[in-house]
Amino acid sequence: MNTLKKSPFYNNKIAITTSSFAEYDDKPLKLLRESEFGVLINPHKRRLEKNETLELCLECIGIIAGTELYDDNLLRQLKNLKVISRCGVGLDTIDLRTAEALGIKVVNTPNGSTLAVAELTVAFILDLLRKVSFMHLSVKDRKWQKKMGNLLKDKKIGIVGFGRIGQKVAQLLMPFGCTVAYCDLYLKDGIPGFSSLPLEELLGWSDIVSVHVSGNNTIIGAKEINLMKRGSWLINTSRGKSVDEEALYNSLKSRCLQGAALDVFTQEPYCGKLLELDNVILTPHIGSYAVETRVEMEREAVVNLLKELELRGRGR
Ligand code: NAD
Repeated sequence: MNTLKKSPFYNNKIAITTSSFAEYDDKPLKLLRESEFGVLINPHKRRLEKNETLELCLECIGIIAGTELYDDNLLRQLKNLKVISRCGVGLDTIDLRTAEALGIKVVNTPNGSTLAVAELTVAFILDLLRKVSFMHLSVKDRKWQKKMGNLLKDKKIGIVGFGRIGQKVAQLLMPFGCTVAYCDLYLKDGIPGFSSLPLEELLGWSDIVSVHVSGNNTIIGAKEINLMKRGSWLINTSRGKSVDEEALYNSLKSRCLQGAALDVFTQEPYCGKLLELDNVILTPHIGSYAVETRVEMEREAVVNLLKELELRGRGR
């Protein structure tokens, strides 16, 4: 990275706006500091408000960004900004059209959280089948109550959205002796070893449906839940909007679906009706919350930022 010293950006500033950074390993921060840029760190240790982002990033040429908002108005005030490097996947908080118009390059870390989300999904499946969370709460409530569960072996798993995470979930499940099929609207080529089914067929076939789609549409609404097998399970670790929470509530309450697990919600923090039910597992959007994943995502975000700045320094 010595070329940066000679670049037009030498001695410029970079802001880290994520609520935490280098909490578990200081290597990503060291890498940034070695680059001869001045580094400004989010002093609030939480998601920044727009005025706070402006204050921190005003003179910066690069940002390691969290989920704070970068709208048209803010981007236009960050006159020196060349690169936003998201430490994470989602880019919905950044006005990409304005960024492009202003020549601000936006990069992210799409692979970082794949294994973490896939492992959480498998944890949800095992928990639902053996009712671990339910019985844990019951024992804590001083009830010695044994409920029969199910084996994962020989279960049919339907994966909706067969991208990075969906495929990783399938890979992790194979050694358990499951059969996996998927539905993906945009995947052109088939994936060897897995059958592709239309959504309606997949829902009727699956013992467990796991949702891993991208985008902001509702994929599993009341109509789709009605197509699912009676007594089956539903998991959503993708986006809150992917599953209609009201329809899911009705189906869990009437025990049409046996159980569900959700890591994502239409409104977070979640405080809706699903909290009342004992056959749903709810977690606070922790899909990528594994130390190893966090460190790797921070490292990837720094490398991406430095690479883009170096290219800019060379006039590309
Ligand atoms: P990806 O882009 O690799 O895969 C998504 C797949 O969904 C694509 O193959 C796409 O063709 C497919 N798809 C889109 N719309 C569809 C539809 N209507 N029907 C069927 N398939 C459809 O994304 P990924 O990295 O695998 O991430 C999957 C989801 O997980 C995303 O929504 C992402 O935001 C979410 N995610 C959640 C967490 C978390 O903390 N819970 C962390 C990372 C990612």
